Amino acid sequence: MNEHEEIAKALKARLSELRTHLAKVDLALHKLLPADSEDQAIELENQEALETTEIHQIDAALKRISEGTYGTCAKCGEPIDPRRLQALPTAATCISCSA
Ligand SMILES: [Zn+2]
Repeated sequence: MNEHEEIAKALKARLSELRTHLAKVDLALHKLLPADSEDQAIELENQEALETTEIHQIDAALKRISEGTYGTCAKCGEPIDPRRLQALPTAATCISCSA
């Protein structure tokens, strides 16, 4: 059994949540009329960008879990503090390398 199975499960749940929401944001974006405010479009676009970034981060974290490199800093190769992973499950680097 993979030691990070629980994290993988939580990440996958978050991933499907994000994909569902992203589809809604995308739809809302395409439904905007020229009469709608530009602020609204910008807001939706920002949201879309943030969620797309998060999806990529989660995808990468899931890949690291399946490859067995999850929890190891991608830069220095040292183990990442479990407290950091708990707060930020998609973290690819340790605190010193992310600073
Ligand atoms: Zn590091």
